[in-house]
Amino acid sequence: MIEDVEVVLAVVLGLAIGLAAMPVLRWLRVLSRATQADLAERTPEVSGQLEATIGLLRSAALVVGPYDEVLMSNPRARTLGLVRGSRIVPEELLDLVRQARRSGQGMGSALKGRRELGMPVVELAVRIVALGDGLVLAIADDRSAQVRTDEIKRDFVGNVSHELKTPVGAIRVLAEALEGAYDDPEAVRRFSARLITETDRLSELIAQIIELSRLQSDDPMLQPSVVSVDDVARAAVDQCREQALARSVQLNAAIAPGLTVLGDEHQLTTAVVNLIQNAINYSDLGARVSVTTRRPVDDDDDFVEIAVSDNGIGIAPDEQDRIFERFYRVDYARGRAEGGTGLGLAIVKHTAGAHGGSVNVWSKPGQGSTFTLRLPAYQDER
Ligand code: ADP
Repeated sequence: MIEDVEVVLAVVLGLAIGLAAMPVLRWLRVLSRATQADLAERTPEVSGQLEATIGLLRSAALVVGPYDEVLMSNPRARTLGLVRGSRIVPEELLDLVRQARRSGQGMGSALKGRRELGMPVVELAVRIVALGDGLVLAIADDRSAQVRTDEIKRDFVGNVSHELKTPVGAIRVLAEALEGAYDDPEAVRRFSARLITETDRLSELIAQIIELSRLQSDDPMLQPSVVSVDDVARAAVDQCREQALARSVQLNAAIAPGLTVLGDEHQLTTAVVNLIQNAINYSDLGARVSVTTRRPVDDDDDFVEIAVSDNGIGIAPDEQDRIFERFYRVDYARGRAEGGTGLGLAIVKHTAGAHGGSVNVWSKPGQGSTFTLRLPAYQDER
């Protein structure tokens, strides 16, 4: 009974409040319409010239009104995720816009963020200009690729200095030993031989460092030539004949005629030479190494493959990804192939990527390895 009374009371009270609130709500609606109209009236005009200029910019650009509303933005600003509807998405960008509006001055800054969760971090260089009347212009450039390249270069320089110290240190120690052994001809011969080995290793390292850094700044696809895969494979095999002979390795080539790719012949030949040299180095005396080129027929994409196979020592599964890193060498290989730098496969991987292709490895310890360079086939458009 008491509960019923409470319910009735609540309903009556609710109705009373509802009725009383109606004029208030109507008034609020009118006020909000007035504010919107007022806002539209007070929002300064963005000139047609500014709109046209923003449309032409390659950078992302947006004009923000006095109430933080985006009045205009170009497609790049939207693809970079800076604008959604009439809202600025990154909080930091909104802060900068407000600061510029308050101070009436321009400013530049670097911003870092993700377009969406799980997406890579985007690095932006932003410039903000207060245009007066509460309008602010923001221009942003995506510097992610540049920042990543700088990081790679920094790492590379760090790695290089570390790797150069080892042979230089060894040469110094050997030279000291040689100095102390001047009256022992046998020791002099031994130390000299090791000195020559270390010097060769150092020059090989320097040559590969130069090769890799040249590759990194040389895009083979900027001015590509039509490259004959026959020529690449034959030239690479010829360059490795002597080394194969020295290790009594049987070096064979099975070349499918007429295949072509777009790119740089020298870079591609160097990549294949690196693969053949490894196949010879990491195989026992008298092993077999073969170079095969083909255009897989069952492939949906049109690719050309250059495969280098050996029946050598093979590579453990957990090492197979790491061997493409710069300076990475499987531990047992250190003693095995004197003069190895750990850069050969990094060069192959870079060359493959720069040509729009890839390199992969199949390998089984004790059985051998096959490295396959896969490159987009040249589409003759005559
Ligand atoms: P490097 O040969 O100068 O050490 P690479 O970058 O060419 O450097 O190769 C990295 C490592 O991958 C080598 O040290 C070796 O351990 C392994 N490797 C490369 N090719 C082969 C191969 N054909 N068979 C077995 N191991 C290989």
